[in-house]
Amino acid sequence: MRLLNRLLYFIPAAAIAALLLLLVVVDGHGCSATGVAVDPSNKARYDHFRIYRVLLENEEQVQLMQQLENRSDSYTFMGHARHTNQNLTIMVAPQKIAEMTDLMERFKIGGSVLLYNIQDLIDKEDSTVMPKKTSPEQFDWQHYFHLDTIHKWLDLQVSKHPSILQSIPLEASYEGNLLKGVKLSKKQGNTAVFVECGIHAREWISPAVCTYILNELLTSTDADIQDLAENFDWFFFPIVNPDGYKYTFEADRLWRKNRKPYGICRGVDLNRNFESDWNGIGASSDPCAYDFAGGSAASESETQVLQKFLKENAHTSRIKTYFSMHSFSQLIMFPYGYTADKVQNYDDLQTIGERGSEAIRRSHGKEYLSGAMIETIYPSSGDSVDWVFSECGVPVAFTFELRGPPDSTNMFILPAEEIVPTGEETLAAYVAMLKAARELGYYGSGETHKGEL
Ligand SMILES: [Zn+2]
Repeated sequence: MRLLNRLLYFIPAAAIAALLLLLVVVDGHGCSATGVAVDPSNKARYDHFRIYRVLLENEEQVQLMQQLENRSDSYTFMGHARHTNQNLTIMVAPQKIAEMTDLMERFKIGGSVLLYNIQDLIDKEDSTVMPKKTSPEQFDWQHYFHLDTIHKWLDLQVSKHPSILQSIPLEASYEGNLLKGVKLSKKQGNTAVFVECGIHAREWISPAVCTYILNELLTSTDADIQDLAENFDWFFFPIVNPDGYKYTFEADRLWRKNRKPYGICRGVDLNRNFESDWNGIGASSDPCAYDFAGGSAASESETQVLQKFLKENAHTSRIKTYFSMHSFSQLIMFPYGYTADKVQNYDDLQTIGERGSEAIRRSHGKEYLSGAMIETIYPSSGDSVDWVFSECGVPVAFTFELRGPPDSTNMFILPAEEIVPTGEETLAAYVAMLKAARELGYYGSGETHKGEL
């Protein structure tokens, strides 16, 4: 009897030990460092997660929201509570909806629920996501595509247009994926435009618009677009955060950062990791935060290869224009993000940005606000556009926040049917902005005064 008791005690203990061993082994071979796909049943879910839009009207409300963000990861803030008269979008986990309702009542916070179930949007979007093994010949702008297909589509374009298109496979991300880019050049002596997309993983419209515009430059018969293709060189990097992008397809649709581990959390916000006022205002030193700036300036391999490439090519390839493509909020912004000091060519950039907004309005009637980054969205430091402007002397540098509007009910989950119109209006903005910058003397032959800020 005593022996039986011992056995009964021993068997569960042994089973637990074996299970623990199994978990360790599985984790060792799992998705952690190697980037192997997550089992679909383990994907992050957002059932009954809500999106709230609130207006902070007094200091007490601002402080309340700051405390809420610091104390609980059940509230995901888009931006941070900073000042009164500020609109703020917050994603709230279902178990906190009663608490949120109570807080809004007690502190008299005005606002509304923009969306009652984020998972519904993700499920709906699923039918517009093409399978991982989709061939590049099936590529289009009615669907969203995995990293592999986009990379193969770029290779296909290079093979179709060998005399004008060149592959630039930069190595490498933390998980060993390429930062794949292309250079389009039809003649000598052009200044160049650098288009950086997909630095934030969940902003799927960014890579989609990037490939749309590249395709238009390669195939359109429109005179304005042919002019751009002919008289500028173009660098396109559709996905500069490939590990994060992959992760949004395979594990968590709302992931933003790269995938490098930092203790119990993962990921650096690559658009806070550049060597420009690094880890200053609008960035976090907490590895679990969505805007974690990294272990040090340019700590991430993705940032390092981009900075190196831009340093080496800004002058030799005459990169005078830089577009960093994000979503959402419908903004066209120029430096700085980290200080209210005005850049030397503030008035010019204001004019160029406004021309972009006007072109977008004429295209499909969407309203895009234009201005310096710190004035239009929120303070940020260590971002690519501030860095490329300050450190590489690229004088025409803009960050786009594409569709939808600031009070969007889709956030980063823009329906695939909006890819083409978003691409069309963005290309119209490029046409207008490059024309304006050309008129202002930024692309003059030889080294102009304005091109050498
Ligand atoms: Zn972004």
